[in-house]
Amino acid sequence: MFQNLSEKLESAFKGLKGQSRITELNIASTVKEIRRALIDADVNYKIAKEFTDKIKDKAVGEKVINAISPGQLMTKIVKDELTDLMGGQEAVFNAKGNPAVILIAGLQGSGKTTFSGKLANFLKSKKGLSPLLVAADIYRPAAMEQLRVLGEQIGVDVHIEPDNKDAVSIAQNAVKEARSKNKNVVIIDTAGRLAIDEQMMTEVANVRAAVNPQEILFVVDSMTGQDAVNTAKAFNDRLDFTGVVLTKLDGDTRGGAALSIKYTVNKPIKFVSSGEKMDTLDVFYPERMAQRILG
Ligand code: GDP
Repeated sequence: MFQNLSEKLESAFKGLKGQSRITELNIASTVKEIRRALIDADVNYKIAKEFTDKIKDKAVGEKVINAISPGQLMTKIVKDELTDLMGGQEAVFNAKGNPAVILIAGLQGSGKTTFSGKLANFLKSKKGLSPLLVAADIYRPAAMEQLRVLGEQIGVDVHIEPDNKDAVSIAQNAVKEARSKNKNVVIIDTAGRLAIDEQMMTEVANVRAAVNPQEILFVVDSMTGQDAVNTAKAFNDRLDFTGVVLTKLDGDTRGGAALSIKYTVNKPIKFVSSGEKMDTLDVFYPERMAQRILG
């Protein structure tokens, strides 16, 4: 993951080797290489340009302390700016409530159902909560079955109504069930389509209005690059979600989605998912991710 970007950034910094100080002239090609590396990673031109303009301003304005070389200084500046681009601080995830309601939305195949299982597992095993999973994908019986199997695997109850074709009433019934069974967090896996579709958006918006979730998480496949960012924008315009979940970070992702989403929709990435197993979910820490990118 991010291997290409890491290699290209490393190579960009190499150009500063042997320089005793930073000047506008001697970092020009480094800055250009960083910009190209970002664009190759599927970050859009405007974001890449703004990013490298900031790096240039910071680097030229900074005094190189004796102990640190221009290459090291640039690495630090880029790391700080990458951290900032991805949201700066770790975002707050709110699973408090009676019960807390968490709505999961995204396109079909993005990894929603898998993530719903992982989140339930995470909240149960790491936070000591008692989750209830809800299968609200009324179009695909296979999705309900998939969630049932995941629930069984992690020891979490799953609310399923195979004959109910109304996602809103399924969600409302699930919240009632959670109250009666002392479950303190309800995770609703909604239907997705292969492309953004008015009916799907209306349905998720209706579920949202009916159950008033604390968190609305938008799940997106990190391998889809710029498309991920465009999809995020469409979902956010309609749902005003509270956070992003990036999936399939274990795949050969170039990194564009991770780097551009916060900038584009101004919503934080809250979790990253990197595998099909139930324990491959991590809270997203921008600084750690920046460090990983820089190797
Ligand atoms: P949904 O249609 O959005 O509910 O997506 P699913 O949860 O069914 O996931 C679609 C496919 O992606 C399935 O084959 C999952 O096993 C796979 N998948 C989901 N998350 C990840 C991940 O983080 N890494 C990898 N490698 N595969 C994933």
